[in-house]
Amino acid sequence: MTVRTLDEYPDAVREEVARTREVVAALHAELPRWELVVWTAGNVSQRVVVDPSGPGEGDLFVIKPSGVTYDQLTADAMVVCDLDGTLVDGDRSPSSDTAAHAHVYRHMPEVGGVVHTHSTYATAWAARAEPVPCVLTMMADEFGGEIPVGPFALIGDDSIGRGIVETLRESRSPAVLMRNHGPFTIGRDAKAAVKAAVMCEEVARTVHISRQLGQPLPIAQTDVDRLYDRYQNVYGR
Ligand SMILES: [Zn+2]
Repeated sequence: MTVRTLDEYPDAVREEVARTREVVAALHAELPRWELVVWTAGNVSQRVVVDPSGPGEGDLFVIKPSGVTYDQLTADAMVVCDLDGTLVDGDRSPSSDTAAHAHVYRHMPEVGGVVHTHSTYATAWAARAEPVPCVLTMMADEFGGEIPVGPFALIGDDSIGRGIVETLRESRSPAVLMRNHGPFTIGRDAKAAVKAAVMCEEVARTVHISRQLGQPLPIAQTDVDRLYDRYQNVYGR
């Protein structure tokens, strides 16, 4: 199989790649800002969308390179991959989580952004394979219910990506806690996926603290549904 380099793509795609590099680089700064990552852990990607009505030329995404510290993550440092996770443009190797991101983009066409962190509280729930129960109105708003747990999966093939997609398809939540690993979040773009990662950590922390004090009270499913519908219609797309 011959992989196309970015030079072989149309101008409109190359221009959108340049814009997406800027967006993804700027959003990476949000991960340490919200204390979701340490060292070089964590990654953000965004699909390159040129013509939202049609597939084809723009089936690329921009993602963080592997092993680069957050203060070096400029737009130029980002790498571009196709939906098989193959490097199309960039000086470094793509993030070791690239196959998982690519799997999500291939199987969830509505998803335009993916984020992965090992944020402390969300990962603590993942270590126990316990979903974060929906006991906060902001959880009903943002997640439409509990934050589910995905299967245990080792890095190296598409099993992480499969686990993410299979779990999120059964849920309204844009976040999944991969067992013994940490959260992956999705959104219509990378900014929405970063917001979901921030909110996931926030509610994991709050519900954990509530558990220290007693048993948090559940919210009735009808109220969860009403909160979710209202929030997504007022604040959603
Ligand atoms: Zn990870």
